[in-house]
Amino acid sequence: MYELKNGTLCPLCERGKLLEEKKDLVFSYKESKKCFENERAFVCDVCGYEGLSPEANKRIEKELTDFRRSVDGLLSCAELKSIREELGLNMKEMAKLLSVNEKTIGRYENGKVTQSKHMDKLYRVLRAFPSAVSALEPGIIISNYKYESGVMTREKSSYNPKLKNGYHFADDYSFESEVNVIVAGY
Ligand SMILES: [Zn+2]
Repeated sequence: MYELKNGTLCPLCERGKLLEEKKDLVFSYKESKKCFENERAFVCDVCGYEGLSPEANKRIEKELTDFRRSVDGLLSCAELKSIREELGLNMKEMAKLLSVNEKTIGRYENGKVTQSKHMDKLYRVLRAFPSAVSALEPGIIISNYKYESGVMTREKSSYNPKLKNGYHFADDYSFESEVNVIVAGY
């Protein structure tokens, strides 16, 4: 990865040198503002290009995603993660439940991708009514609110309360389009 530091040749004009400066970065979204104070920025002394360190980029990207989400009334990275964890599901299981790619769940939680309003509502339904898991897939039986007893599987015969990681889906698990039906009816 391209590492910005003092004295690096500017990646834009390839003539100037980057010099470190402390900057207040202000972002606007739908008339709301978010300010990051005293960030380490690297500014080209020829063309004015400004860059941030990879660390700052990642952190600010995540916070900006949450900022936009809060303006739009959507759940934050931390909320999405805690809802999944409250359900006792790993990312792969959550992805199957919501009929999305496993990477999408990770991107919701690290702020790379913003969930749709429909998906946001589905998360809220699952937070308020964890037993809705079984409504999304009638084959899954939920024994209690917090899943403290351990593992649920599709096949009751393979239920194993000693495994701690929520419930596991059978390998041949297939999803139908119930997710959309529930969102539309919500
Ligand atoms: Zn430059």
